[in-house]
Amino acid sequence: MRAAVFRQGDLFVDELAEPVPGNGLVLVRTLACGICGSDLHARDHARKMEGVSKFVPWRKPLDPTRDFVMGHEFACEVLDYGPGASKRFRIGTHVVSVPWIIRDGAVQGIGFSNDNTGGYAERMLLTENNLLEVPNGLPADHAALTEPLAVGIHAVEKARIAGDEVPLVIGCGPIGLAIIATLRAKNLHPIVAADFSPKRRELALLMGADVVVDPAVSSPYTTWQEYAAYSPEETKRRAPLLGMPRPLMPALIFECVGVPGVINQIFEGAPRNARIIVVGVCMENDLAKPMLGVLKELTVQYVFGFTKDEFASGLRMLAEGEVNAGELVTGKVGLDGISGAFTDLANPERHTKILVEPWR
Ligand SMILES: [Zn+2]
Repeated sequence: MRAAVFRQGDLFVDELAEPVPGNGLVLVRTLACGICGSDLHARDHARKMEGVSKFVPWRKPLDPTRDFVMGHEFACEVLDYGPGASKRFRIGTHVVSVPWIIRDGAVQGIGFSNDNTGGYAERMLLTENNLLEVPNGLPADHAALTEPLAVGIHAVEKARIAGDEVPLVIGCGPIGLAIIATLRAKNLHPIVAADFSPKRRELALLMGADVVVDPAVSSPYTTWQEYAAYSPEETKRRAPLLGMPRPLMPALIFECVGVPGVINQIFEGAPRNARIIVVGVCMENDLAKPMLGVLKELTVQYVFGFTKDEFASGLRMLAEGEVNAGELVTGKVGLDGISGAFTDLANPERHTKILVEPWR
């Protein structure tokens, strides 16, 4: 079968051996697979990913000097079952799955693995128990957004919302947008969102943001304060100690950028007692001033991935039309087009999510 193989720092379309489903596994045809920011990171920083993995012993490390096939945001069609499978879905059923597989009793990743081919391939193997049928005739190119949406859902779940917070989303790429859509589904308003790109701000409004800020023009934190003010009566009731700033509703700040300096910018801009959820994956060493965190009594929660339930919620939101998926998919390429798409994704005005359709 054909696949886009990551080899020695670049992508090559090559012929790979046909995957054969083992115990409990399912052979599927990849219908659509999103290109994720992590894939771009992996291309440029594969060595660094390897460097941190020794401190994360429960994840089998990726060896970037050996071939691997990326792609962890996929929608597929069931082709065949391995031994021991219950054959829950008839052949031809459209399915999605969390991007991990159970092999020899152990959980292994898909897409950042030397052993398990990701969605940048014509066919791949999945674990039968992880499959979810794509409902409501949801097209495969929208179902493929389940994974990035689940990342947003997980970030919001980890934030353990009480209901009185005013959220501020820094960065409106696919994950920031997924967080906005989830916050809207939870009815947590007003949602303030910031991005330098006009197109991304437009999408943020479409996903449910109430206020968008261009950080080149005004401070997201100042704008946030305007929307986090209590009513005059409530402000009076919560009269601050002499010399302290006026009370504001609790701040919940989502960092969805993942480049050096952003966390410290948030530390600088955040109000007292803010809770910060770090979703962006910064691959560099980054400097944040702990003193700011101490003086403001900030809470920082780092988040990663999602649970199977959160993944299922993502599929449900898409199937029920709660997310304007059509607006997020801005391009489709075959295997030969992936390299170019990696470059094109650098332009936020033109692209949000490019899907790989390996059958093209
Ligand atoms: Zn991803």
